[in-house]
Amino acid sequence: MEDKKLLFRIRDLKQYFPVGKKHLGKEQKFVRANDGISLDIMEGETFGLVGESGCGKSTFGRTLLQLYKQTGGRIIYYGRSVEEFAPEYMGKILSNLDHQKKHCEELRKKAADMREKYEGMADGAEKNIYLNHVVEAEKEAYNKLMDITALIGGLYCAEDMTKIAPVFQEEYKILSEKRALNNKLATAKEEDKAALEASIKALEDKLPDVKKKIAALKEEYKNHADFAEYESYLDTGINLSELNGKEMDKLRKDIQLIFQDPYSSLNPRMTVGQIIGEGLKAHKMFKKGEEEQMQEYILKTMEDCGLAPYFIHRYPHQFSGGQRQRIGIARSLAVKPKFVVCDEAVSALDVSIQSQIINLLLDLKEENNLTYLFISHDLSVVKYISDRIGVMYLGTMMELGTTEEIFAHPTHPYTEALLSAIPTTDVEHKKEAIILEGDIPSPINPPKGCKFHTRCRYCTEICTQAVPQLEEIEPGHFVACHHKLGRKEEKN
Ligand code: SF4
Repeated sequence: MEDKKLLFRIRDLKQYFPVGKKHLGKEQKFVRANDGISLDIMEGETFGLVGESGCGKSTFGRTLLQLYKQTGGRIIYYGRSVEEFAPEYMGKILSNLDHQKKHCEELRKKAADMREKYEGMADGAEKNIYLNHVVEAEKEAYNKLMDITALIGGLYCAEDMTKIAPVFQEEYKILSEKRALNNKLATAKEEDKAALEASIKALEDKLPDVKKKIAALKEEYKNHADFAEYESYLDTGINLSELNGKEMDKLRKDIQLIFQDPYSSLNPRMTVGQIIGEGLKAHKMFKKGEEEQMQEYILKTMEDCGLAPYFIHRYPHQFSGGQRQRIGIARSLAVKPKFVVCDEAVSALDVSIQSQIINLLLDLKEENNLTYLFISHDLSVVKYISDRIGVMYLGTMMELGTTEEIFAHPTHPYTEALLSAIPTTDVEHKKEAIILEGDIPSPINPPKGCKFHTRCRYCTEICTQAVPQLEEIEPGHFVACHHKLGRKEEKN
């Protein structure tokens, strides 16, 4: 995994949906569909997400694509850089650095005070419950610190932000003007291109001077005790949740979705050609007058996805489930995405068709260097297609690791139960299925402490009080449990 490039860094992602209207004097209730999810997705990998129906897998996929506005946390996308994209939020932070830093320092102080109080508390239930608040406060402070240091790095340690801010604002102004011109260039007429290119070049020529000013400032502060630490937080990724609608529309081309239901996800009034061409038009991939090239491109995409060229004028109702799913895949891949969320993409298909579609997805991934988030409740499918697996329960990531590691050494009691339920024809090595007692609790009012404690056979008192945090127990293998399986030293 180490040699792979990071594509997404997700930290403490929360997606809550309000339930009913807020009444005076009554607390607003929420469905906590995603409750503090953290993980990295690497370029070129297939990340499998498993869990029971209703555990928040699809919500996670859709929040990642920003189809839902997330409630909290960070989703950093590395498919493009902030320098290239110059998002508006970058300008807002830089124009307000002094205030931003003050607010961040307040959050950090609050978290540090809470941690100190926690350390001084006597062991027991109260201390365990208080730890949950400490962790939440620390995450909030950390996220704020990351927002700022991602842009200014080590210069966060400067006492006087009014000296730092103008230089970064100057850089941002150049970057945002350059981005605007690049956008114009993409759709410009041939005769206007030379002038636009000259303007972009003129802006690029201004950049080295600003970079020199930033380097000089860093030279001044480099001996500060915290400089190196803050400098290591410099980040070129884009914070998706901070993008405005227009900016997100531009990125939608990079991140696509294949839906579960191949029936309702296709417009019955559109032909296959129109369905695939819709995204191409929306993202202006072909200019006016290039209709012929676009038609050829659609036919090529159809062929890549195993659809015959004469299907182009047919309507969705004229196809089988497997063929419809191929249309859905062609529609997503036509815009040349970097990342695709496959949301139960084969669940609605017959087993024989499932394998055809999975093999198609694997071939297309290879040819186009795609990255998949493969969401499924079917562990055998996920095992076949995924490089790494995340196990979710009630909106929380319980275990995460490579496919081999998760299947060979399940360390979370929930993963153990899920794996034991996979049907097998191997009579000799057949394990007894672990039956999970009771229903999955309500995400409106999830159990305190470990969310799995109401159904876990290893539950002890601490499990009902303190939320277990996701910890790395082996390189790349993370588990959120107070009593990790096979780790006897922790079972006391
Ligand atoms: S923390 Fe406790 S209740 Fe939760 S999975 Fe681990 S052992 Fe079970």
